[in-house]
Amino acid sequence: MEKRNISQFDQKPSRQNKLRVLIDLDGVVRDFIGSLIRVYNQKYPDHAVSPITSRRLEDFFPIGEEIYKFMESGFIDEIMQEAQAYPGALESLNRWKNEFEIVIVTAQPDDIRGSTYIWIGKNNLPSSEIHISYFKSEIQGYALLDDFIDNLEEFSSTGRLAVCLDQPWNKNWKGPRVKTVDEFFLYLQKHLYHRQKEQLDQTNLT
Ligand SMILES: [Mg+2]
Repeated sequence: MEKRNISQFDQKPSRQNKLRVLIDLDGVVRDFIGSLIRVYNQKYPDHAVSPITSRRLEDFFPIGEEIYKFMESGFIDEIMQEAQAYPGALESLNRWKNEFEIVIVTAQPDDIRGSTYIWIGKNNLPSSEIHISYFKSEIQGYALLDDFIDNLEEFSSTGRLAVCLDQPWNKNWKGPRVKTVDEFFLYLQKHLYHRQKEQLDQTNLT
């Protein structure tokens, strides 16, 4: 193996103007719900959790509203840090990182922030820009991939491309929808191709 020397850390890579795309974490890359159910079942092995079809978690866990207390009381770090990535999600980000600037944008309450940074590190996400913010539409980026309709609507209202990662809780979103992270990048590629073609056709007309 080539020996590392400290000056290598200072070497600037050449500037690349890749298109910035904003990627949400929970419900898109990190399976927070799957992790919550797994940790819940460890504590309550005989409780049956119904399939989660909305963001109202209290409707699906037998302990009802108490689920929010459960998430706070010593379990939240494990739920967030030990969550699995959705199948293929990390592989896809790694596959597309050379073509697009992957910017992570995730809304996190203060007490979950640390666990989210740990998760990002543990899973070696190919992103050098992480935003923990509830105001995603204020962040510069060509497109957003998210599972929460409010975020999609807000982003789309700024005239940018908002794509929904299909989940049982976002069936009411009328805009573009994909089943996987990889499908999002393919969709984006096609979208950019058509945009470029339109622009070319227009210049040929004038
Ligand atoms: Mg989300």
